[in-house]
Amino acid sequence: MPLNTVDVLVLGGGPGGYVASIRAAQLGLSVACVEMDKTLGGTCVNVGCIPSKALLQSSEHYEWLRLHAAEHGIRVDGASIDLPTMMARKREVVAQNTKGVEFLFRKNKIAWAKGFGTLKAGNVIEVRATDGSVATWNGRSVIVATGSVPIELPFLKFDERRVLSNVGALSIPEVPKHLIVVGGGVIGLELGSVWRRLGAKVTVVEYAPTILVGNDAELVREADKIFRKQGLDIHTGTKVTGADVREDGVTIHVENDGVTSSIEGDYVLVSVGRKPLLAGIDAAALRLTLGTRGEIAVDSQQRTNVPNVYAIGDVCGGKLLAHKAEEEGVVAAEVIAGKPVHMHHRTMPGIVYTWPEIATVGLTEEEVKKSGRGYRIGKFPFSANGRARTMGETQGFVKFVVDATTDEILGAHMIGPNVADLLAEVVLAMEYRGSAEDIGITVHSHPTLSETVKEAALAALGRAIHS
Ligand SMILES: Cc1cc2nc3c(=O)[nH]c(=O)nc-3n(C[C@H](O)[C@H](O)[C@H](O)COP(=O)(O)OP(=O)(O)OC[C@H]3O[C@@H](n4cnc5c(N)ncnc54)[C@H](O)[C@@H]3O)c2cc1C
Repeated sequence: MPLNTVDVLVLGGGPGGYVASIRAAQLGLSVACVEMDKTLGGTCVNVGCIPSKALLQSSEHYEWLRLHAAEHGIRVDGASIDLPTMMARKREVVAQNTKGVEFLFRKNKIAWAKGFGTLKAGNVIEVRATDGSVATWNGRSVIVATGSVPIELPFLKFDERRVLSNVGALSIPEVPKHLIVVGGGVIGLELGSVWRRLGAKVTVVEYAPTILVGNDAELVREADKIFRKQGLDIHTGTKVTGADVREDGVTIHVENDGVTSSIEGDYVLVSVGRKPLLAGIDAAALRLTLGTRGEIAVDSQQRTNVPNVYAIGDVCGGKLLAHKAEEEGVVAAEVIAGKPVHMHHRTMPGIVYTWPEIATVGLTEEEVKKSGRGYRIGKFPFSANGRARTMGETQGFVKFVVDATTDEILGAHMIGPNVADLLAEVVLAMEYRGSAEDIGITVHSHPTLSETVKEAALAALGRAIHS
């Protein structure tokens, strides 16, 4: 059995693992990354961020053609869907990205140890390839980046035919007649929107009193209103109590306020959350400390309690986001290289790629209120923005929550056109503990959607110009 030794041995080639590998290589360390899938990129690139955004884009084009082209004086008669082509495009976009990561591995001289890795004591990973051969790798430091898997409901086990996880919901072979989505979080709303736009009736069943739990209440109310108007049939405060899965469909049994009923669909997407993936990691044998949700516990430098073993990304819990995994990967690589860096999550943005988009960073109004800190709100609607009017995209608003005395930005909550990209300037401002005034006195090009951000910042100071 060959023994290969490197400075940094990374377990998992998703956004956490592959970015950590690249950063470590940039810092002059020798690196190997263990990945069991046929392609690099992990959940995000293969069955998450990238394919979902490809389908969101395609379905948005279709919806725009059907509902909005005529307003612009464009007549599109008989627009229809070619689902195989849409799916082929999605696969091609995914392939461009997985090949891109492979290219970056070659460029940075990162060894891809292909196969299933089992972490052993002493920084050793045994890698079993699909042909059964086993290679042993040793790292002076190990970074665990094994990601997460979707949570199943006991009576709705994924078969990826009728009962779908994100994997199946990204590849349904036909437009469903009725897709039931269990879970009104980001994944449920994004994938539900895709299939609704393509013509499915979509029913969202959410146990909590609202969709998008944990977000700013005003933002959630606006999103709920818009999604219902678009045609999503949303049932909040509704518990799924059982299900009958048949060859040709699914019946979901639900309970709302003591009243029971059933919903018939041809497919069900179960998107009730994800849990850390510890396949190949015997935490007890390794004496690796886990948190209450089975996540690997780390400090602000991504160190676990086991010397020279780090963990990053979804497997550490917190917000399950690709950019969080990436940043944690950079921190782990830099700490290993001896740099004095720390991870902080205060300015971690979160996006929902529905249309309109939703983008948030920092504290919600409710969180600030609860903390007892004095605060002010600055809000500006896209309906008062010139660029939004030219685009015919006037739904939504930008909202700032700022400190009452210093006007430091504590949080920003946006729903509207392209807010996923508009959020970046606020994240940057918050990174430097910027204030609403910093954004308010910064020149923003005219006419741009970004003027809505400036105006909302000015509104927090009581001096928005256009409202
Ligand atoms: C439908 C969907 C849409 C999403 N959209 C977004 C989005 O728009 N923006 C965003 O920020 N986030 C999004 N996410 C979340 C994002 O995909 C994850 O947060 C991100 O992939 C986490 O990265 P990671 O590196 O921690 O883990 P992963 O991406 O899960 O990668 C872990 C890798 O480790 C490998 N692995 C695990 N165990 C072993 C082992 N023992 N041996 C060898 N290999 C192993 C796995 O095969 C996998 O490739 C989405 C997720 C889903 C499901």
